[in-house]
Amino acid sequence: MTYDIIIGLEIHAELKTKSKMFCACANFESENTLGNTAICPICLAHPGALPQPNQAAIAAVVLAGLALNCKINTLSKFDRKNYFYPDLPKGYQISQYDLPLAYSGTLDEIDIVRIHLEEDTAKMTHDQKTGETLIDFNRAGVPLLEMVTAPQIKTALGAKKLCQHFQQILRYLEISDADMEKGQMRCEANISLQVPGTWKLETNSISGKDLSAKVEVKNINSFKAVERAIEFEIKRQTELLDQGKKIIGETRGYNDQTGETYSQRLKESSADYRYFPEPDIKPLNISEAWIAELKTKLVELPLAKVDRFVKEYGLTLEQAEIISADKNTAIWFEEVASELRTIISGNENVGGCRLIANWLLSELFKYQTLVSAHNFAELMGILFNERINSSAGQQVLAVMVKTGKHPEEIIKELDLEMSTDDEFIKTAVIKIISENPSQVGEYRLGKLNVIQFLVGKVMAETKGRANPQLVRKFLEEAL
Ligand code: ZN
Ligand code: MN
Repeated sequence: MTYDIIIGLEIHAELKTKSKMFCACANFESENTLGNTAICPICLAHPGALPQPNQAAIAAVVLAGLALNCKINTLSKFDRKNYFYPDLPKGYQISQYDLPLAYSGTLDEIDIVRIHLEEDTAKMTHDQKTGETLIDFNRAGVPLLEMVTAPQIKTALGAKKLCQHFQQILRYLEISDADMEKGQMRCEANISLQVPGTWKLETNSISGKDLSAKVEVKNINSFKAVERAIEFEIKRQTELLDQGKKIIGETRGYNDQTGETYSQRLKESSADYRYFPEPDIKPLNISEAWIAELKTKLVELPLAKVDRFVKEYGLTLEQAEIISADKNTAIWFEEVASELRTIISGNENVGGCRLIANWLLSELFKYQTLVSAHNFAELMGILFNERINSSAGQQVLAVMVKTGKHPEEIIKELDLEMSTDDEFIKTAVIKIISENPSQVGEYRLGKLNVIQFLVGKVMAETKGRANPQLVRKFLEEAL
């Protein structure tokens, strides 16, 4: 039979503050950082170490709350959420329980129950080969925003779209990079199926007799996975209910390879966490004046921008949505539009803006996508290893954008590789010195910065293939 589908989301996002949530450690959590280097007694949970809340992180959560039309608790506090796991050395997570920073908002016509602030846990990596588990505490204590929606979402697609929209907002506000692949944003979905007419939504939760249990799905690491995991759960629960079986209230993991969820553990209730106020941190007084100040930092958000782009520039809804999905693209579009306004006359403005959108989306984007991430990484590697100089790099990129070719191929074709052959450079140096006697004279009289001119000449003579440091060295020797 058909059941009512009830979905709620919990979204965690790492805030990109300079320092961690409760200590002065740097908040960097990138793959390039050596493990366990941004750590201190506080984020390692040494006994007696005292946490100090990060004001920038509090501001970021209040800002997110304002962006989702939440109310802000002027009296807020931190609480301890007790549980044991090796990635949580304190044995509790500092989080917020009954007085979250923000509550009662909306996003995509879905009620937002709360947005609170907590700390991230350490990162555990399981080595399949050795069976060892490594723990990196660089992530321990990174400020984490948690947003909870009411269980009002009805489709897997709707859940995915809400996650995407929330990511855009976090990026527009510049409080989180929110990259799901990097674990900077993590979505968990609660899914239950109920017989129509047997339940109702009351203050953010479902009530009724003989309710079917809800299942929480974790380890979802892409937008596509949000949709697929929920679709799988709807199918699984429908089949069980149709067979007259009960749904077990549990936490399930998601396997991206198979597109299936699997049982992990029985679901905890908030009572299991024995929440109590964090005694080491004073309650937070969020003043109205500070909230007002933060309000001035609210930028135009994606939805408003889409709306305006449709009205002001005559774009289609789809064009406006694609352009506004990324703040920088939207800014770039408006810059072009305002430049174009000075070129064409007023009446044709809208037509001109549509033309920009068409060309941006169908032509300019096409070139961008011709440069694969792989080829671009290759080019960066070549530049990093100084095999070509940056002006040659620009030439290569220009060809990559047009043809999608591999940079190595282009470098060969255009003969751009830097020469490590000293004789080749010395020959060019001697030639340039003999051709520019007046500059050489000035240099010898003490006008030392003339050398920059001569370096440029040699670089041109060698078609950019000489190493500029070597050119300079040989010039100085010859002069
Ligand atoms: Zn620390
Ligand atoms: Mn949480």
